[in-house]
Amino acid sequence: MPKHSLREQMLEHRCRLTAATLQQLSDLIQSQFVELPEFLAADVVALYAPVRNEVATAELFRAGRKMGKRLLFPRVFGKHLEFVEVSDWSELHSGAFGIAEPTGSNVVDSAAIDLMVLPGLAFDRRGHRLGYGKGYYDRYWQQQPRHGLLLGLAFDFQVVDRLPVEHHDIQLDLLVTETSLLRFV
Ligand code: ADP
Ligand code: MG
Repeated sequence: MPKHSLREQMLEHRCRLTAATLQQLSDLIQSQFVELPEFLAADVVALYAPVRNEVATAELFRAGRKMGKRLLFPRVFGKHLEFVEVSDWSELHSGAFGIAEPTGSNVVDSAAIDLMVLPGLAFDRRGHRLGYGKGYYDRYWQQQPRHGLLLGLAFDFQVVDRLPVEHHDIQLDLLVTETSLLRFV
């Protein structure tokens, strides 16, 4: 299936989740995530602020803060992303594409990021990711040396056997769903 058809299908399916299901599945995913050795070992973790029924990350933020980690969120500038340190969720305000973004000025270099958590519309069993079609994360990691671990969060229905992949698509190290943990390295 071409990328654009898969995006539509996944977005449509995800938008049909009820608030209760979204919360319940997000809780399962986040509780698995916070026990991962990769999370426990990470000092600097990049999260995302969910939109359109993406897996929630508020619990990851809360747990990370409690463990004394530095937490970053992406901000769009032009065709690029930068990652800004945030100490309270209230520092996020609606930005590009209706996504909550940090307003602070503490932009953290990619070389300092130990673990980056990525949203997506679909993922495959080989570690590939399908985003909304703008290639922001692909571009970010093409512009800097690959560093730290890249981890996707998804609901089970978003996992497919094989995604169409282009040469610029980044490869993930881990994927967490409500029932499974996939390691690609
Ligand atoms: P997504 O990763 O959001 O699903 P795609 O992988 O389909 O989106 O990429 C979307 C667009 O971004 C493509 O048209 C692609 O050419 C462009 N793109 C991605 N990475 C780069 C890059 N490193 N340099 C230039 N264009 C890029
Ligand atoms: Mg891509």
